Amino acid sequence: MNPYWNRRVRKLEPYVPGEQPRGRKFIKLNTNENPYPPSPKVLEAIRGAAGDLRLYPDPACTALREAIAEAAGVKPAQIFAGNGSDEVLAFVFAAFFQAPDPVLFPDITYSFYPVYAGLWDLPFETPPLTGDFRIDPADYRRPSGGVIVPNPNAPTGILLEPGALLSLAEDLARQNRVLVVDEAYGLFAGPGAHSLLGAASLVPHIEAHPNLLTVHTFSKMASLAGLRVGFAIGNEALIEALCRVRDSFNSYPLDALAQAGAAAAAADGAYRAETAARIRAQRERVTGALRERGFETLPSAANFIFTRRPGIRGADLSAALRERGILVRRFDGPRTGDFLRVTIGAAEDMDAFLEALDAALAAGRA
Ligand code: PMP
Repeated sequence: MNPYWNRRVRKLEPYVPGEQPRGRKFIKLNTNENPYPPSPKVLEAIRGAAGDLRLYPDPACTALREAIAEAAGVKPAQIFAGNGSDEVLAFVFAAFFQAPDPVLFPDITYSFYPVYAGLWDLPFETPPLTGDFRIDPADYRRPSGGVIVPNPNAPTGILLEPGALLSLAEDLARQNRVLVVDEAYGLFAGPGAHSLLGAASLVPHIEAHPNLLTVHTFSKMASLAGLRVGFAIGNEALIEALCRVRDSFNSYPLDALAQAGAAAAAADGAYRAETAARIRAQRERVTGALRERGFETLPSAANFIFTRRPGIRGADLSAALRERGILVRRFDGPRTGDFLRVTIGAAEDMDAFLEALDAALAAGRA
């Protein structure tokens, strides 16, 4: 290790994102991107904002927060916007979780959570998912420094009913702790009453639960992974805590183009609903096609599926797919290593995936 690294950097175990290949053309089913282009209104707004980049952007992201508020049925003061939900999550770990009590999240979940805990020196514990890969809310009903879960969970795609999370929020409120629900994939569970939120979103309950914060992203639901815009929704006092962290770090994490593009995306609920519906239809089709091929697929409410075929090694199958131009994601681990996480793309992407899968299975490589 380099002698100039301080103790904090030496201890870091950074997150490793899914591959973004350069050169050879792959069908990318490995990072849960949306296969459709963003709403045409997004490009128009970005072009407009590009006319004057001389000034710093609005540090409060006012227009963006108003557009999100309108689409989510909340007040702008209940919204915090950040540079991708990854940044929002980093701020959440800094703002709410309380050492020395351990922050709790599932053993199989978004693998950035332990990285943030490491960055901020927070102890954590990881209650295991049940035998059928579900989160059991009872595992989180104990003294802790706070709880974070994705809903639907990643990489399983399994959705937890809102009622179970709300009663957990009440439990945590009695300990003065926060429940964070990462709704990155929420819209793919089916549309809710508001165009930005999925049917099982906890956002309608933030007024009644001052210790409940939800986290969202434009990356997947609005096809804007390249723009880096995420946001959190919660009680005003929780939002203020996130602003305090941001303003101790970078006053302008969201540039002017990102603010303008994401505001336009937020306002185009019809476009988002249509592309999400197409992805849900493909998810059901591919799940059925995999079942016919002897695969077990966890019931997904997200824009990806987690699937395995008993007797086949995940590493072999993902290598065989890669040779055939298809990238999928795999996570080492005793319970996850043989699963592939396959992002749901457009119909033609999924045709190509099934074709490559058949060829790999026939070649007996996998
Ligand atoms: N939360 C979950 C559960 C995710 O899978 C991801 C995507 N890797 C994110 C948050 C981060 O998304 P982004 O930073 O693109 O908003």
